[in-house]
Amino acid sequence: MNIHEYQAKEIFRKYGLKVLNGKIANTADEAMNAAKELGGDIWVVKAQIHAGGRGKGGGVKIAKTPDEVKTLASEMIGMNLVTHQTGPEGKQVNKIYIEQGCNIDKEYYCAVFLDRATSQVSVMASSEGGVNIEEVAEKTPEKIHTINIDPNFGMQDFEARNLAFKLGFEGKQAIKAAIYFKGLYEIYMKEDCAMVEINPLVTTKEGDVMALDAKMNFDSNALYRHKDVLEMRDITEE
Ligand code: ADP
Ligand code: MG
Repeated sequence: MNIHEYQAKEIFRKYGLKVLNGKIANTADEAMNAAKELGGDIWVVKAQIHAGGRGKGGGVKIAKTPDEVKTLASEMIGMNLVTHQTGPEGKQVNKIYIEQGCNIDKEYYCAVFLDRATSQVSVMASSEGGVNIEEVAEKTPEKIHTINIDPNFGMQDFEARNLAFKLGFEGKQAIKAAIYFKGLYEIYMKEDCAMVEINPLVTTKEGDVMALDAKMNFDSNALYRHKDVLEMRDITEE
């Protein structure tokens, strides 16, 4: 079972992982009010559909005033969004997420998934984020780093730090990235996920490390023990 970006970010917050503030909206007026309540001077209007590639398809847009948020929202709500993951028929946008804008310094990629070949959970990360990871895997596979986690010990601090160093993180940011990787592994295990994917994980000009996008997929056989996750199900997306 998949959930929306805004729902995945709620789970991240629960585990203490940094994400930007945002609010969900079903109408253009709700979107404008959400921007006013969030405050700041830049917002991102994000279509909530169970598919990636929204940015390229027109499902992620930047606004500089609450009025602009309203205009973009009225265009986005109800639109048929076509991305490389929706197929040519596209998906109708019913909800949008209004999020604070952020000063991106660099974009990274990170995912936690089950590696069936080794029967272990893997944490995969790359310094090449924000782009199609399949393309990175094909053209520059050396830029993707994967570690398998021993289930008896869980993800160790040194493993998380080594991964951060391999991606080129330094100093305090390496520590923040390592904490993020460990947090994602913890979420994956405790919430019985099938996959957690962050593209992009970013560093900001202010020195923060955080997920700007979040995709979570759950093991359906374990949903009986996650009532709160089951409530996030959106059957209109299935
Ligand atoms: P998708 O992967 O579906 O295209 P993302 O959430 O990854 O959607 O957004 C696409 C791009 O938009 C990101 O790679 C990032 O560069 C930018 N972006 C997304 N959210 C924000 C934000 N809150 N502030 C600034 N830029 C953002
Ligand atoms: Mg993305």
